[in-house]
Amino acid sequence: MPNKERNVPSIALRYNGEIILWDIGEGTLRQLNIAKLSPMKIEKIFITHFHGDHYLGLMSLIQTMTLWNREKPLHVYGPKYTFEFIQNYLKSGFFRPSFDIHVHELGEARLKFGDYEIWSFKVEHGVPALGYVFKEKDKRGSFDLDKIRELGLKPGPWMKELETKGKIEIDGKVIHLEDVTGSPKRGAKVVYTGDTEPCERVKLFSEKADVLIHEATYLSEEDRGESYHSTVPEACEVAKKAKAKLLVLFHRAPRYTYEEYKQGAEKLCRHRFIIPKDFDVLRIGEEHELSSLR
Ligand SMILES: [Zn+2]
Ligand SMILES: [Zn+2]
Repeated sequence: MPNKERNVPSIALRYNGEIILWDIGEGTLRQLNIAKLSPMKIEKIFITHFHGDHYLGLMSLIQTMTLWNREKPLHVYGPKYTFEFIQNYLKSGFFRPSFDIHVHELGEARLKFGDYEIWSFKVEHGVPALGYVFKEKDKRGSFDLDKIRELGLKPGPWMKELETKGKIEIDGKVIHLEDVTGSPKRGAKVVYTGDTEPCERVKLFSEKADVLIHEATYLSEEDRGESYHSTVPEACEVAKKAKAKLLVLFHRAPRYTYEEYKQGAEKLCRHRFIIPKDFDVLRIGEEHELSSLR
């Protein structure tokens, strides 16, 4: 429920100048404006499921992009029925997008884009629903001069060739890139569950994530009742089992104030967690850094 303090879900992932959106609730355009994130830099929008709080902001974004004469295509990804919903959506109102909209209906998929991949996985929410993983490619270690010397080699132009080919032959000896480089650096991994009740897939896909953004709508099972959502202890349990570095508790029910929810979570969760407010920025690195645009 949007109110004075907060809006409905939308998460902007910024990577190498590109902005990827995970969900686009109503009012996301305004939030982007306040956060000074240009909608024109958005190329991909991943919708977890078609409940209003997760997608109703798409129309205003597309109409505004048209007003600004956007030409660059936009890719919209989502679960089963995404194609049908977007098609119906675009039929309402007197406007025609100035750019191509590519709609991708996903099951469990692994999409490769340059330096990163996006994986989708199925979650349990009573309607077709997906969670997403952003996985940066692992970076190979840099050249190790000691290793090069140990093999009786000298640094030279062959290194460039080895870098592109992965292996080369020098004086009848095959050299692999990993023979002369340090250990690879793990790329960042961020997981977003969207809305879901506790499910195995989330744990599986969150294995060793740097950040797990887990919906934790309620503090207790009693509060949850029959709804298809998770509680704070359940999200916490998943983060622990998956060995996620940081848990982000997300999608708090409107019945709790931020403070109530935070106090509850502090009692219920023994894993490292944060409860972000709108416009909080999490920089992912060796050490996560939290700041705010507010
Ligand atoms: Zn939902
Ligand atoms: Zn929701």
